[in-house]
This record gives sequence, C-alpha cells and structure tokens, in this order.
Amino acid sequence: MDKFFNQSPSNVLKHFHVSLDGLTTKAAQEALQNYGPNALSEGKKKSMVVVFLEQFKDLLVFILIAAAIISALSGNLESTIVIFAVIILNAILGTVQHFKAEKSLSSLKALSAPSAKVIRNGTKIEIPSSEVVPGDIIFLEAGDLIVADGRVIESYSLQVNESSLTGESESVNKTAEIIDRTEVALGDQINMVFSGSLVTYGRGIVLVTATGMQTEIGKIATLMNQTQQKKTPLQVNLDDFSKKLAMIILGICFIVFTLSIYRKIPVLDSLMFAVALAVAAIPEALSSIVTIVLALGTQKMAKQNAIMKELKAVESLGSISIICSDKTGTLTQNKMTTKKVYLNHTLVDGDTLDYTNPLERLLLQSAVLANDSTNQEGQEIGDPTEVALVNLGQKLGLSEISLRKDYPRLSEIPFDSDRKLMSTLHFIDGQYILFTKGAFDVLLDRTNTIATTEGIRELTLEDCNQINAANQSLSENGLRVLAFAYKVLPSEKLLTLEDETDYTFLGLISMIDPPREESKAAVADARLAGIKPIMITGDHKVTASAIAREIGILADSDIAVEGTTLDHMTDAELDEKLEHIAVYARVSPENKIRIVDAWQRKGKIVAMTGDGVNDAPALKKADIGIAMGITGTEVSKDAAAMILTDDNFATIVKAITNGRNVYTNIKNSIKFLLSGNTSGILAVLYTSICALPMPFAPVHLLFINLVTDSLPAIAIGMEEATDDLLHQKPRNPRASILSKDFLVRILVEGSIIGLFTLIAYHIGLTTSPQLASTMAFATLCLARLFHGFNCRGKQSIFKLGFASNKYSLWAFLAGFLFLNAVLFIPGLTYLFEVAPLTLSTTLTIYGLAFMPTVIIQIYKVLRERFLK
Ligand code: ATP
Repeated sequence: MDKFFNQSPSNVLKHFHVSLDGLTTKAAQEALQNYGPNALSEGKKKSMVVVFLEQFKDLLVFILIAAAIISALSGNLESTIVIFAVIILNAILGTVQHFKAEKSLSSLKALSAPSAKVIRNGTKIEIPSSEVVPGDIIFLEAGDLIVADGRVIESYSLQVNESSLTGESESVNKTAEIIDRTEVALGDQINMVFSGSLVTYGRGIVLVTATGMQTEIGKIATLMNQTQQKKTPLQVNLDDFSKKLAMIILGICFIVFTLSIYRKIPVLDSLMFAVALAVAAIPEALSSIVTIVLALGTQKMAKQNAIMKELKAVESLGSISIICSDKTGTLTQNKMTTKKVYLNHTLVDGDTLDYTNPLERLLLQSAVLANDSTNQEGQEIGDPTEVALVNLGQKLGLSEISLRKDYPRLSEIPFDSDRKLMSTLHFIDGQYILFTKGAFDVLLDRTNTIATTEGIRELTLEDCNQINAANQSLSENGLRVLAFAYKVLPSEKLLTLEDETDYTFLGLISMIDPPREESKAAVADARLAGIKPIMITGDHKVTASAIAREIGILADSDIAVEGTTLDHMTDAELDEKLEHIAVYARVSPENKIRIVDAWQRKGKIVAMTGDGVNDAPALKKADIGIAMGITGTEVSKDAAAMILTDDNFATIVKAITNGRNVYTNIKNSIKFLLSGNTSGILAVLYTSICALPMPFAPVHLLFINLVTDSLPAIAIGMEEATDDLLHQKPRNPRASILSKDFLVRILVEGSIIGLFTLIAYHIGLTTSPQLASTMAFATLCLARLFHGFNCRGKQSIFKLGFASNKYSLWAFLAGFLFLNAVLFIPGLTYLFEVAPLTLSTTLTIYGLAFMPTVIIQIYKVLRERFLK
C-alpha cells in the first residue's frame, strides 16, 4: 500500500480490515500478539556489572584501597582482607540500592502512564496506551496525548502540537483530506497524527497505523534511559558539602600524619593513623541515604494517592505555603446532578420537563446534542457537567445515542475554558439549528432575543434582570448554573467563532456538585500548617463563594475576585490585595499564571492544580504543578510534578505533610550520621594530639560507618509524621539544611559520644593498647546505635514512643548482634583485631555506650518540661 497520507480514510480502514465500529476484542488481541505492546523500548539499562563497577568511582574507596595496601605492607594481611570485603559489601549494597530506586521510580512511571479512548466492538472504552494496536480507532480531544501514529479519519477543528517530534511550537491543523504528493515531510503530513504529540484544540477520530517502536518517535528515539532522575537540590547541596568536608578532612589527615612523623612514629603506622581518621570522618552514606529516604517517601505518597513525578518535588513540598486549587472535582465531588431548571421565566424541577412541549424539547435537545458525554449501562464517559445533562435526558426517557443519530452533528466549536462555551450545529425539523451552552454571564452577553411559550421576542432589560436574579439565587446555594441558547442558521456551514453571537436565550439548568466530605477538614489542616488555600475556578463567582465559604476557604475578611477584574488590575494593585483574595472565579488559564507569579514575587512556594490543556503553562510555572489523575488531561499530567490519583484536595495536604516529614527525616538521618562521624574524629584527634596509641583500626571505623550506622540512618528515614508537623510553619526554601544551629547540635552530640568513647579507651589502656582500642571501638559503635533513637525526632523518646518506629528497633537489634558477633565470635575477633572481653568489661562498654543517650534524653525531657 502507498503511504497512508496518500490514501482516503476508507481505503486505510479497508487496509486494516476495520470499520468505524472499531476492532473486535479478538482482533485486538491478535494484533497485540503480532505487534507487541505500544511502548517505546526503555533503552539499554546499565547492566548490573557496570553499576557495580561504578560504585568504586568514589573518593572513599580510593582511601580504603590505600588503607588496604598500607595494611598489607605493614604485614597486617587480615586487615587488608577485611577492608576489601567491606569495599565489596559496600559496592553490593550500592548496586542493590541503585536497582531498587530504579524499580520504584519506574513503578511510579507506570502509575502515571497515559490511556487512550478507543472504540472496540462498537463501544467507546478507555484503555491503557500500551494496549493500543494498529487498526484501533482512537478518539482525540483537546488535552489528549497522542499515544500512537494514525491517519485522521474525521477532524473537528483538530489541532495538534507536534513540537516533541518536529520542534515546531505552533499547533498544526489536522484534516482528513488526502495529500496528493508522495514526498511530504512529517510536519506537513496534515492528515496524520504522531505519537508523542498533544491535542491542543478540537476533536478527531484517528485510525492507528503504527504503534510502539514502529511510530515516527519510536524510529528516532535515541534509546533513553527514561527512569534516570536528576539529583535534587538537597542532594547537590549535600554532595557539595561532602566534597568540601572531604577536602578539610584530608587536610587534617595530612597534619596528623606530619605530626606523627615528627614524633618519630614509623611511617606506615602514621599513614594508618591518618587513613583511620579519613575513614572515620568522610560521611560516605550521606547522599545514598537521602536517595533512599526520598524514594521510600515517594512510595508512601503513591499509596496515599499522590504520585510524585520527580524526587525534587518531594523536597519542595515541605516549603509550600500557598495551595491554589481548582474547585470542581478537587474541592467538590464532581458528581453533578441537575436540579432546578429556569425557562420561560419560571423555575421548575428538572425532572418535570416535558419533551412534547416545544420550548422544553428545544432545551433538552440542546442539553443532549451540544454534549460529548455518554452514559451507557451506567458507564459514564466524559465531563461530569455534560454527563449530568445526559442523565437528565435519560431520566426523561431520552436516549442520547438515538437523539444524536436522529440529529447528527454537522459542525461544532468545542468547549474551551477560555471561551467557556460549546456550540454544535444540527438539522432539526427542516431548520439548521446552532445550539450553544456555556457560562451564564458569557452567553447572556451574546443574546438579544428570548424564547418564551408565547414565541420569540426581544430581550428586554426586565428579562435580563429576571434571568440574573434567577442565576443569583441558584448560585448563592452553591449550584453550578449552565446557560443555553440557540439560533437558526440559513444553511449548513463550518462554524466559526463569529457565529457565537445574536442568540435566542433558552434557559438555565442548575446542577449540584457537593463539596467533598474531607475538604473542610483538609482546609482547616492547611491553615493550621501555615498554608493558605485559595480557590481558583472557572465557575461563577457567587457559586464559587458559596462553596468556598462552606468549606472554610473564604473567611469574612477575605474577598472573591473575577478573572476580568484581575485583568484590569496592575501588578501593584494585585500585590496589595493578594493576601486577601481567597477565591478567583471565572478565571482564564492566563489568570492562573498571573496569580502564581504574584505569590512567587512575595517569595512564596506555590502549589497549583490544573486539569485542562490550557493549564499546562501555569502548572509548569508553579513550584509544584499538580494534575488530576482521574479527570485531568494527559497534557496537564505531562506538565505537572505531582499527580493526584483521587483528584482530592485533601490528598494535597496529606502529601505536604508527608513532604515535610521526609525532609525532617532526612535532616535527622544526616544529624545521626554526621554526629557519629564527629565522635570518631574527635577521639582520633585527641589520641593523635596526646601521642597515645591509635584508638581504632580502620576496619573498626569501616564496620561502624558502612555496616552498623546505615541501618539506624534508614530507620530514622522511615519515622512516621508527628502531629506537631502540621502545627509548624512551612520551611523557608532558602534556608540551608546545614544551618549553624544544626551543625552546633551535631558537634555537641558528637562530643558527648566521643567523650564516653575516650573514657572506655582510657579504662582499656590501663590493661593494654589492644583492649583500649577494642573498648573504644565497641563503645563508639554501640553508642552510635543508641544514638539512633535520639535522632528519631526533636522530642524525647518517651514522647515519640519507644516502639512507634519498629524499623528503628530492628536496626538497633541487628547492629547490636553484628557488634557482638565481631566482639565474641572467634574467627571474627581475629579479623577485627579485637581483644578478649570479660563480663565486667563488656558491661562497662554497654554502660558507657548508653550514657550519651541518657544525657541527650534527659536534656530533651527537661526542654519539653521547662521550655514549652
Ligand atoms: P474548576 O476551574 O474549578 O475546575 P470549572 O469546571 O467550572 O471549575 P471550567 O471547566 O473552566 O471550570 O468551566 C468554566 C465554566 O464554563 C463553567 O462554570 C461552566 O459555566 C462552563 N462550562 C463548563 N463545562 C462546560 C461544557 N462542557 N460546555 C459548556 N460550558 C461549560
């Protein structure tokens, strides 16, 4: 067959042996077998061996190898073996962690994978994009991500952005017409659509011609490793800190080495001393602990309906101080039910409408025909506002399918949230009737006549006042009001925006969309947490204010502002009023960008929700763009940093709490690791300055740093959020995690542990240097394991609850068993250069190791008692 763009739609349909009723389930299954799933190959992932080898590209490993060589040179071969064993163990852990993080990220990716609306066995259904096969008929509408290549069969003002493929940022009009030329560049194939493009306007029906790697994007895809994530600001910050620290440490090591040589200590011993210090000090686990804690955090959030698309966003969550949220579906249930109907200047119940009455028939026809949604056997597909209208029709015995068959759509102008209108053209009873439904104020402005039971007449001021009053009273009760109008056209034509004027007003249909049950509590929680919730909606100001008041967003001192008012405000005026505006109604997507911008000017970190195709720029502009998993367009999901799988405002507040918790946990893990290292450095420095024998062999410090320390560090990362997290103010985004206060605390706690380690060391020294070293090592190791409990949170262990973090208990227990294995199992004692211990020395070690924790906990209890 020729190229598809040279063929008529019917020929292409024939080629794939398919009709507009789509594939049968059987044919689709066969095609899936033949062509494989519709997905791009993920690209070559790094092999296990490569990842394993990469673990050795580390300063620490070089130092350790130096230590191993020095040990071998000084005849201490056991030590060399242990060091190599630890290096390899460390590399294995690093490799496992790499693949675990990759797996958790790709499972998150799978959760946010797009879907497609196809027709199968004559019914419109939604399927995961991976199941789309050549021959499928896909429905496209504004906001969709195109998931396969296809030939356009029908186009209703379909416009597509193909920038991912062609680099062209302007949208392209798509038609179903045949192209005559045979050589046509991709960008000019206007009757084809390509995978990876976005539908920016209109609607279309497309026959899939290629999927997966056969698509144009598949052919050029430079096999990318899609799960790769950039480092987060915190990780970059810490890497930077670690590098600087390493340099300082190497400097100190050099001084210590020179000092030892000056004291005539043999070169190899002096070197060993310096190396031990380096091993004690370099915080090797820092960056990987941050990754693990962030990855665990994202998994937990995903379980609670918030999918984080990037690790970076998890960090920013804790700094959010403004949440700009849509109303419909996010704060409300998005379960619309029609209520009162206003026509012929009277309010009636929707259920009582009569299809035989000409005026009521016209309104119902307009409600069902200017409408893209369906409800077949309880399966509602489409915009809930429109589904409510279909349901109203069905209640009155009108089937949308047969009505749409009787009066097919001849032309249309789709709904968009800027214009807030939708129009369709039909041939009914010998007349070409243009139906338009949309926002009350927008549509009323375009009408000049009104349909009444007495016929059509000029719209008077009195009429307008009555209609306005009806709208006002419905809106004040939180009802969403949709207006309907029509006009007769002389002939069939392709509708343009100019046609949307000079209407005859038909009526209003109101619908209820109750607030979600959780919204009120979530708004209160947000306020408690120092976060200002703001409602941004396309809906009418009065409706929006009624709902906002009900759930606590609009307080007495707050105001509601309309998009048009915002358009007339200067930046200075907006800045002045900003803090008081709690509701923005009838906003355009451009308004959203302006609101984000204004808050960002005030230095606030802003979260913004969005679902439509036009929301993408605002989602990108916000610090955290939040898309709706259920109702959101693929375009919005693509632009967002976070996706709510339940579309729920309460989930945002929960995610922020989780984000704050992750950050606090990371900070606590860092504190644990750095204070532990400080204690080791201080002990080594002390003995070096006092010309005493070395307190630790490098293997001791390695054992602590790489084996026993990492467990409590991860356990601290798993700490559950405490209640007071919600009472705190949002974190200052510019404040460094390594504040002076924080570093002082690390130094103080490190010194306390160092002190007791040295007491143990001196007790041992009265017997032998080997016992001194054993006691120092064991005390330091155990004291750090205990210290894991201190670092679980600011509060004392009694407030936190001893068993409230099971991981921390397990981490302690495992570390304690490892330590005792090294201290008492004969082969290991030899490898770790451990002196035999009596019961009383063992108890002395346990007691001394416990002391720093006692002191730190007493301090915490006293602070809780007296400083609050
Ligand atoms: P939110 O922005 O909180 O999600 P919304 O759903 O009201 O609220 P939009 O979808 O932008 O926001 O709709 C704006 C207005 O356009 C609505 O208040 C309604 O009057 C009108 N409208 C919404 N959906 C349709 C539709 N399918 N056809 C015609 N008009 C619509």
